[in-house]
Amino acid sequence: MSLKITSVVAAPLRGESPKGGWSAEIRPADSVHALIAVHTDGGIIGHGSVFTDGRLVEAALKVLEPLFLGEKALEPQRVTEKLHQNTFWMGRGGTLTHAISGIDIALWDILGKSLGQPVGRLLGGIYRRRVQPYCSLLMEEPQRMRESIGEFLGRGFRAFKIGWGPFGRALDPKLDEAIVRAAREAAGPGSQLFVDAGASDAYWPHGLKWALRTAAMLKDYDVAWFEEALSPDAIDDFCKLREASIVPIAGGEVLTRRQAFLPWLSRRALDIVQPDVTKVGGISEQRRIAWLAEEFGVKYVGHGWNTAVGLAADLQLAAAMPQTELVEFIGGSPYVDGITAEPFLLDKEGYLAIPDAPGLGVRLDPDKLARYTDRADVLFKS
Ligand SMILES: [Mg+2]
Repeated sequence: MSLKITSVVAAPLRGESPKGGWSAEIRPADSVHALIAVHTDGGIIGHGSVFTDGRLVEAALKVLEPLFLGEKALEPQRVTEKLHQNTFWMGRGGTLTHAISGIDIALWDILGKSLGQPVGRLLGGIYRRRVQPYCSLLMEEPQRMRESIGEFLGRGFRAFKIGWGPFGRALDPKLDEAIVRAAREAAGPGSQLFVDAGASDAYWPHGLKWALRTAAMLKDYDVAWFEEALSPDAIDDFCKLREASIVPIAGGEVLTRRQAFLPWLSRRALDIVQPDVTKVGGISEQRRIAWLAEEFGVKYVGHGWNTAVGLAADLQLAAAMPQTELVEFIGGSPYVDGITAEPFLLDKEGYLAIPDAPGLGVRLDPDKLARYTDRADVLFKS
Protein backbone atom coordinates (compact mmCIF):
# COMPACT_ATOMS: atom_id res chain seq x y z
CA MET A 1 0.00 0.00 0.00
CA SER A 2 1.31 3.44 -0.86
CA LEU A 3 -0.54 6.58 0.06
CA LYS A 4 0.81 9.91 -1.07
CA ILE A 5 0.25 13.31 0.51
CA THR A 6 -1.77 15.47 -1.89
CA SER A 7 -2.31 18.50 0.36
CA VAL A 8 -2.08 19.78 3.92
CA VAL A 9 -4.56 22.43 5.05
CA ALA A 10 -5.19 24.37 8.25
CA ALA A 11 -8.36 25.58 9.95
CA PRO A 12 -7.65 28.22 12.62
CA LEU A 13 -10.04 28.01 15.59
CA ARG A 14 -11.51 31.23 16.94
CA GLY A 15 -14.67 32.73 18.39
CA GLU A 16 -14.51 31.08 21.80
CA SER A 17 -10.80 30.89 22.51
CA PRO A 18 -10.58 30.38 26.29
CA LYS A 19 -8.72 32.82 28.53
CA GLY A 20 -5.14 31.84 29.27
CA GLY A 21 -4.80 33.82 32.49
CA TRP A 22 -1.91 35.78 30.92
CA SER A 23 -1.07 39.43 31.45
CA ALA A 24 -1.91 40.15 27.79
CA GLU A 25 -5.11 38.13 27.82
CA ILE A 26 -6.32 36.01 24.90
CA ARG A 27 -9.60 37.32 23.47
CA PRO A 28 -12.32 34.93 22.26
CA ALA A 29 -11.74 36.04 18.64
CA ASP A 30 -7.97 35.39 18.79
CA SER A 31 -6.66 32.32 17.07
CA VAL A 32 -4.12 30.41 19.17
CA HIS A 33 -4.90 26.93 17.91
CA ALA A 34 -5.39 25.50 14.45
CA LEU A 35 -6.50 22.09 13.25
CA ILE A 36 -4.66 20.45 10.36
CA ALA A 37 -5.84 17.96 7.76
CA VAL A 38 -3.47 15.88 5.67
CA HIS A 39 -5.16 14.67 2.48
CA THR A 40 -3.97 11.64 0.52
CA ASP A 41 -4.49 10.15 -2.92
CA GLY A 42 -6.17 7.12 -1.32
CA GLY A 43 -8.90 9.26 0.24
CA ILE A 44 -7.80 8.69 3.85
CA ILE A 45 -7.61 11.99 5.75
CA GLY A 46 -5.61 12.52 8.94
CA HIS A 47 -6.20 15.27 11.51
CA GLY A 48 -3.71 17.11 13.68
CA SER A 49 -3.58 20.11 15.99
CA VAL A 50 -1.14 23.02 16.30
CA PHE A 51 -0.64 25.44 19.20
CA THR A 52 0.03 28.67 17.31
CA ASP A 53 -1.88 31.51 15.67
CA GLY A 54 -3.65 30.09 12.60
CA ARG A 55 -2.09 32.73 10.34
CA LEU A 56 1.37 31.47 11.21
CA VAL A 57 0.29 27.87 10.61
CA GLU A 58 -1.03 28.76 7.15
CA ALA A 59 2.23 30.52 6.28
CA ALA A 60 4.27 27.56 7.59
CA LEU A 61 2.31 25.14 5.41
CA LYS A 62 3.16 27.24 2.32
CA VAL A 63 6.85 27.15 3.23
CA LEU A 64 6.80 23.39 3.93
CA GLU A 65 4.71 22.40 0.89
CA PRO A 66 7.57 21.46 -1.47
CA LEU A 67 8.93 19.12 1.21
CA PHE A 68 5.70 17.21 1.95
CA LEU A 69 3.84 17.16 -1.39
CA GLY A 70 3.92 13.66 -2.89
CA GLU A 71 5.59 12.20 0.24
CA LYS A 72 4.57 8.78 1.61
CA ALA A 73 1.74 9.40 4.07
CA LEU A 74 2.34 6.12 5.92
CA GLU A 75 5.80 7.11 7.19
CA PRO A 76 5.19 9.76 9.86
CA GLN A 77 8.54 9.79 11.62
CA ARG A 78 10.63 9.81 8.45
CA VAL A 79 8.54 12.51 6.75
CA THR A 80 8.47 14.69 9.87
CA GLU A 81 12.23 14.37 10.36
CA LYS A 82 12.67 15.45 6.72
CA LEU A 83 10.66 18.60 7.48
CA HIS A 84 12.77 19.33 10.59
CA GLN A 85 16.11 18.65 8.90
CA ASN A 86 15.39 20.89 5.92
CA THR A 87 14.09 23.93 7.78
CA PHE A 88 16.69 24.34 10.55
CA TRP A 89 17.73 27.74 9.16
CA MET A 90 14.19 29.13 9.28
CA GLY A 91 13.86 29.25 13.05
CA ARG A 92 13.95 25.69 14.32
CA GLY A 93 11.93 25.18 17.45
CA GLY A 94 9.52 28.01 16.63
CA THR A 95 6.31 28.23 14.66
CA LEU A 96 7.57 25.92 11.92
CA THR A 97 8.18 23.20 14.51
CA HIS A 98 4.70 23.80 15.96
CA ALA A 99 3.17 23.47 12.47
CA ILE A 100 5.17 20.29 11.75
CA SER A 101 3.67 18.88 14.99
CA GLY A 102 0.18 19.08 13.47
CA ILE A 103 1.33 17.37 10.26
CA ASP A 104 3.00 14.59 12.24
CA ILE A 105 -0.09 13.97 14.40
CA ALA A 106 -2.21 13.78 11.22
CA LEU A 107 0.23 11.32 9.61
CA TRP A 108 -0.02 8.99 12.63
CA ASP A 109 -3.82 9.28 12.35
CA ILE A 110 -3.56 8.22 8.69
CA LEU A 111 -1.25 5.30 9.51
CA GLY A 112 -3.65 4.05 12.16
CA LYS A 113 -6.69 4.43 9.92
CA SER A 114 -5.00 2.64 7.03
CA LEU A 115 -3.96 -0.30 9.25
CA GLY A 116 -7.18 -0.38 11.30
CA GLN A 117 -5.20 0.11 14.55
CA PRO A 118 -5.18 2.75 17.29
CA VAL A 119 -2.05 4.91 17.27
CA GLY A 120 -1.12 3.71 20.78
CA ARG A 121 -0.60 0.18 19.50
CA LEU A 122 1.53 1.44 16.60
CA LEU A 123 3.70 3.29 19.13
CA GLY A 124 4.76 -0.07 20.49
CA GLY A 125 1.98 -1.41 22.65
CA ILE A 126 -0.85 -0.60 25.02
CA TYR A 127 -0.06 -0.19 28.73
CA ARG A 128 -3.50 1.11 29.70
CA ARG A 129 -7.00 1.51 28.32
CA ARG A 130 -8.05 4.44 30.47
CA VAL A 131 -6.29 7.42 31.97
CA GLN A 132 -7.14 10.05 34.57
CA PRO A 133 -7.76 13.52 33.12
CA TYR A 134 -6.89 16.34 35.44
CA CYS A 135 -9.15 19.32 35.00
CA SER A 136 -7.20 22.55 34.45
CA LEU A 137 -8.89 25.65 35.82
CA LEU A 138 -7.84 29.26 36.03
CA MET A 139 -7.23 30.52 39.56
CA GLU A 140 -9.89 32.80 40.92
CA GLU A 141 -10.59 34.58 44.16
CA PRO A 142 -11.13 31.89 46.86
CA GLN A 143 -14.93 31.80 46.76
CA ARG A 144 -15.07 31.56 42.96
CA MET A 145 -12.28 28.97 43.00
CA ARG A 146 -14.38 26.87 45.35
CA GLU A 147 -17.41 27.12 43.05
CA SER A 148 -15.48 26.33 39.92
CA ILE A 149 -13.86 23.21 41.42
CA GLY A 150 -17.25 22.17 42.80
CA GLU A 151 -18.76 22.39 39.31
CA PHE A 152 -16.16 20.08 37.74
CA LEU A 153 -16.18 17.73 40.74
CA GLY A 154 -19.89 17.42 39.98
CA ARG A 155 -19.02 16.48 36.40
CA GLY A 156 -16.91 13.60 37.70
CA PHE A 157 -13.32 14.92 37.75
CA ARG A 158 -11.16 13.68 40.63
CA ALA A 159 -7.93 15.56 39.79
CA PHE A 160 -7.54 19.31 39.39
CA LYS A 161 -4.90 21.79 38.43
CA ILE A 162 -5.32 25.43 39.30
CA GLY A 163 -3.10 28.06 37.83
CA TRP A 164 -2.17 31.53 36.63
CA GLY A 165 -4.52 34.44 37.32
CA PRO A 166 -3.69 36.23 40.59
CA PHE A 167 -1.31 33.49 41.85
CA GLY A 168 2.10 35.11 42.36
CA ARG A 169 1.00 38.11 40.31
CA ALA A 170 -1.06 39.88 42.96
CA LEU A 171 2.16 39.85 45.08
CA ASP A 172 0.09 38.65 48.01
CA PRO A 173 1.23 35.33 49.50
CA LYS A 174 -1.81 35.29 51.80
CA LEU A 175 -4.14 35.43 48.80
CA ASP A 176 -2.12 32.68 47.07
CA GLU A 177 -2.54 30.45 50.11
CA ALA A 178 -6.23 31.29 50.51
CA ILE A 179 -6.86 30.25 46.89
CA VAL A 180 -5.02 26.94 47.33
CA ARG A 181 -6.81 26.28 50.63
CA ALA A 182 -10.19 26.94 49.00
CA ALA A 183 -9.30 24.62 46.13
CA ARG A 184 -8.19 21.82 48.47
CA GLU A 185 -11.33 22.15 50.58
CA ALA A 186 -13.57 22.11 47.50
CA ALA A 187 -11.72 19.20 45.88
CA GLY A 188 -11.80 17.15 49.09
CA PRO A 189 -9.13 14.79 50.40
CA GLY A 190 -9.90 12.15 47.75
CA SER A 191 -8.91 14.33 44.77
CA GLN A 192 -5.47 15.13 43.45
CA LEU A 193 -4.53 18.81 43.33
CA PHE A 194 -1.76 20.43 41.27
CA VAL A 195 -0.68 24.09 41.17
CA ASP A 196 0.69 25.94 38.14
CA ALA A 197 2.32 29.35 38.63
CA GLY A 198 2.44 29.91 34.86
CA ALA A 199 5.85 31.59 35.10
CA SER A 200 6.24 31.54 31.31
CA ASP A 201 4.02 34.65 31.37
CA ALA A 202 5.61 37.97 30.34
CA TYR A 203 7.84 39.57 32.98
CA TRP A 204 7.34 36.93 35.68
CA PRO A 205 8.18 38.81 38.89
CA HIS A 206 9.62 36.02 41.09
CA GLY A 207 12.74 33.92 41.44
CA LEU A 208 14.05 30.94 43.37
CA LYS A 209 13.31 32.23 46.89
CA TRP A 210 9.65 32.83 46.09
CA ALA A 211 9.41 29.39 44.49
CA LEU A 212 11.00 27.72 47.55
CA ARG A 213 8.69 29.52 49.99
CA THR A 214 5.63 28.79 47.86
CA ALA A 215 6.53 25.12 47.46
CA ALA A 216 6.73 24.83 51.26
CA MET A 217 3.25 26.36 51.54
CA LEU A 218 1.84 23.98 48.89
CA LYS A 219 3.07 20.96 50.85
CA ASP A 220 0.54 21.76 53.59
CA TYR A 221 -2.31 21.33 51.10
CA ASP A 222 -1.09 18.02 49.73
CA VAL A 223 -0.34 19.53 46.32
CA ALA A 224 1.01 16.77 44.09
CA TRP A 225 3.11 19.00 41.82
CA PHE A 226 4.20 22.62 41.44
CA GLU A 227 4.35 23.61 37.76
CA GLU A 228 6.23 26.45 36.03
CA ALA A 229 7.32 27.88 39.36
CA LEU A 230 10.23 29.70 37.71
CA SER A 231 10.72 31.47 34.43
CA PRO A 232 11.14 28.88 31.70
CA ASP A 233 14.86 29.43 30.97
CA ALA A 234 16.01 29.31 34.61
CA ILE A 235 17.38 25.78 34.47
CA ASP A 236 19.92 26.23 37.29
CA ASP A 237 17.24 27.49 39.66
CA PHE A 238 14.91 24.67 38.59
CA CYS A 239 17.64 22.18 39.58
CA LYS A 240 17.97 23.83 43.02
CA LEU A 241 14.20 24.01 43.50
CA ARG A 242 13.70 20.37 42.56
CA GLU A 243 16.38 19.28 44.97
CA ALA A 244 14.98 21.30 47.89
CA SER A 245 11.22 20.88 47.39
CA ILE A 246 9.20 18.03 48.89
CA VAL A 247 6.44 18.90 46.43
CA PRO A 248 7.39 17.50 42.98
CA ILE A 249 8.40 20.09 40.37
CA ALA A 250 6.84 20.10 36.88
CA GLY A 251 7.52 22.04 33.68
CA GLY A 252 8.61 21.94 30.06
CA GLU A 253 5.49 23.04 28.17
CA VAL A 254 7.30 25.81 26.28
CA LEU A 255 10.23 23.66 25.15
CA THR A 256 10.24 22.27 21.62
CA ARG A 257 12.39 19.63 19.87
CA ARG A 258 13.78 16.60 21.69
CA GLN A 259 17.24 18.16 21.84
CA ALA A 260 15.98 21.01 24.06
CA PHE A 261 14.69 18.54 26.66
CA LEU A 262 18.00 16.73 27.12
CA PRO A 263 19.65 19.16 29.57
CA TRP A 264 16.42 19.40 31.59
CA LEU A 265 16.30 15.64 31.92
CA SER A 266 20.00 14.88 32.34
CA ARG A 267 20.47 17.65 34.93
CA ARG A 268 17.42 16.51 36.92
CA ALA A 269 15.72 19.90 36.68
CA LEU A 270 12.19 18.41 36.83
CA ASP A 271 10.29 15.59 38.53
CA ILE A 272 7.56 15.72 35.87
CA VAL A 273 8.14 16.79 32.27
CA GLN A 274 5.20 18.15 30.26
CA PRO A 275 6.03 18.36 26.55
CA ASP A 276 3.21 19.62 24.31
CA VAL A 277 2.56 17.29 21.37
CA THR A 278 1.11 20.21 19.38
CA LYS A 279 4.41 22.13 19.68
CA VAL A 280 7.40 19.83 20.11
CA GLY A 281 7.20 18.15 16.69
CA GLY A 282 4.19 15.89 17.07
CA ILE A 283 3.79 12.30 18.23
CA SER A 284 7.09 11.16 16.66
CA GLU A 285 9.02 13.70 18.74
CA GLN A 286 6.88 13.43 21.86
CA ARG A 287 7.34 9.69 22.19
CA ARG A 288 11.11 10.10 21.97
CA ILE A 289 10.99 12.78 24.70
CA ALA A 290 8.69 10.61 26.81
CA TRP A 291 11.03 7.59 26.53
CA LEU A 292 14.06 9.78 27.28
CA ALA A 293 12.26 10.95 30.43
CA GLU A 294 11.62 7.33 31.33
CA GLU A 295 15.36 6.60 31.11
CA PHE A 296 16.11 9.49 33.48
CA GLY A 297 13.39 8.54 35.97
CA VAL A 298 11.34 11.65 35.18
CA LYS A 299 7.58 11.25 34.86
CA TYR A 300 6.03 12.23 31.51
CA VAL A 301 2.58 13.87 31.41
CA GLY A 302 1.38 15.34 28.08
CA HIS A 303 0.31 18.95 27.57
CA GLY A 304 -1.66 18.67 24.28
CA TRP A 305 -4.88 19.60 26.01
CA ASN A 306 -6.11 22.59 23.99
CA THR A 307 -8.16 20.88 21.30
CA ALA A 308 -9.95 17.55 21.03
CA VAL A 309 -7.28 16.42 18.54
CA GLY A 310 -4.38 17.40 20.81
CA LEU A 311 -6.07 15.57 23.68
CA ALA A 312 -6.64 12.53 21.45
CA ALA A 313 -2.91 12.46 20.64
CA ASP A 314 -2.11 12.70 24.38
CA LEU A 315 -4.49 9.81 25.08
CA GLN A 316 -2.76 7.57 22.52
CA LEU A 317 0.66 8.48 23.95
CA ALA A 318 -0.62 7.78 27.48
CA ALA A 319 -1.74 4.36 26.28
CA ALA A 320 1.77 3.63 25.02
CA MET A 321 3.87 4.87 27.97
CA PRO A 322 4.36 2.72 31.07
CA GLN A 323 4.26 5.50 33.73
CA THR A 324 1.72 8.00 32.35
CA GLU A 325 -1.43 7.89 34.44
CA LEU A 326 -2.63 11.45 33.77
CA VAL A 327 -3.55 13.75 30.90
CA GLU A 328 -4.33 17.45 31.07
CA PHE A 329 -7.95 18.37 30.29
CA ILE A 330 -9.02 22.00 30.01
CA GLY A 331 -12.21 22.64 31.96
CA GLY A 332 -15.04 23.86 29.75
CA SER A 333 -13.43 24.61 26.37
CA PRO A 334 -15.63 24.25 23.29
CA TYR A 335 -12.52 23.35 21.26
CA VAL A 336 -12.32 20.12 23.31
CA ASP A 337 -15.95 19.48 24.24
CA GLY A 338 -17.71 20.96 21.23
CA ILE A 339 -16.07 19.72 18.00
CA THR A 340 -16.27 15.92 18.03
CA ALA A 341 -19.09 13.60 17.03
CA GLU A 342 -19.01 11.88 20.45
CA PRO A 343 -18.07 13.78 23.63
CA PHE A 344 -15.25 12.73 25.95
CA LEU A 345 -17.03 11.00 28.85
CA LEU A 346 -15.65 10.23 32.30
CA ASP A 347 -16.32 6.90 33.97
CA LYS A 348 -17.43 6.59 37.61
CA GLU A 349 -13.89 6.97 38.94
CA GLY A 350 -13.23 10.06 36.84
CA TYR A 351 -11.17 8.34 34.13
CA LEU A 352 -11.33 8.74 30.36
CA ALA A 353 -11.39 5.66 28.15
CA ILE A 354 -8.57 5.78 25.59
CA PRO A 355 -10.19 5.37 22.16
CA ASP A 356 -9.35 2.06 20.50
CA ALA A 357 -10.79 2.96 17.09
CA PRO A 358 -8.27 3.23 14.23
CA GLY A 359 -5.93 6.23 14.21
CA LEU A 360 -6.42 8.84 16.92
CA GLY A 361 -9.87 7.40 17.48
CA VAL A 362 -11.84 10.65 17.56
CA ARG A 363 -14.22 11.84 14.84
CA LEU A 364 -14.46 15.57 14.22
CA ASP A 365 -17.95 16.90 13.49
CA PRO A 366 -17.99 19.31 10.51
CA ASP A 367 -21.16 21.12 11.62
CA LYS A 368 -19.96 21.68 15.17
CA LEU A 369 -16.55 22.78 13.91
CA ALA A 370 -18.13 25.34 11.60
CA ARG A 371 -18.99 27.39 14.71
CA TYR A 372 -15.30 27.96 15.41
CA THR A 373 -13.72 28.21 11.96
CA ASP A 374 -14.79 29.33 8.52
CA ARG A 375 -12.54 26.63 7.04
CA ALA A 376 -14.19 23.54 8.52
CA ASP A 377 -14.94 22.18 5.03
CA VAL A 378 -11.24 21.92 4.00
CA LEU A 379 -10.65 19.52 6.89
CA PHE A 380 -12.95 16.96 5.30
CA LYS A 381 -12.82 17.55 1.52
CA SER A 382 -9.80 17.62 -0.74
MG1 LIG B 1 1.14 24.89 32.54
